[in-house]
Amino acid sequence: MGELLLEVVTPEKVVVSENVDMVVAPGSLGEFGVLSEHVPFLTGIVPGELRYTSGNQKESLSVAAGFAEVSNNRVSVLVNAAEMVHDIDMERAHRAMERAKERLSKDRGTEDIDFLRAEAALKRALVRIKVTEGAK
Ligand code: ATP
Repeated sequence: MGELLLEVVTPEKVVVSENVDMVVAPGSLGEFGVLSEHVPFLTGIVPGELRYTSGNQKESLSVAAGFAEVSNNRVSVLVNAAEMVHDIDMERAHRAMERAKERLSKDRGTEDIDFLRAEAALKRALVRIKVTEGAK
């Protein structure tokens, strides 16, 4: 059993609450790894893959934006959405990707905010697809 407590929490639920050996997460300043006795720090999380190991077991999940805090052998990840790789619905991710691409292919006009939303949606969809593909 690992010495680090990993908690991945979204507004909807606790996705992971497990003792693990190592966590690798997509920080806003780049990917970072955490082992036990890591110095405390706080960082933003960008959409990407979060991996962790516990003994021989390796797990992977897709996370959306948020932040993470490391302190006292605890990694707390608070994100807008997170799905374990086996819970990712690929058809839904592909539909979301197509929808976002369709929006981004239109004239920018004045509604820039919709483009930012579409870009963010595209990013989330691509991450979900990549995490699933990577796990195959
Ligand atoms: P969609 O347009 O398909 O809803 P989205 O990127 O807008 O995608 P989010 O707002 O990030 O969705 O997430 C809303 C909820 O739906 C979260 O609980 C998230 O975990 C879940 N979710 C989103 N897409 C998928 C997917 N492809 N597979 C499984 N769960 C998903």
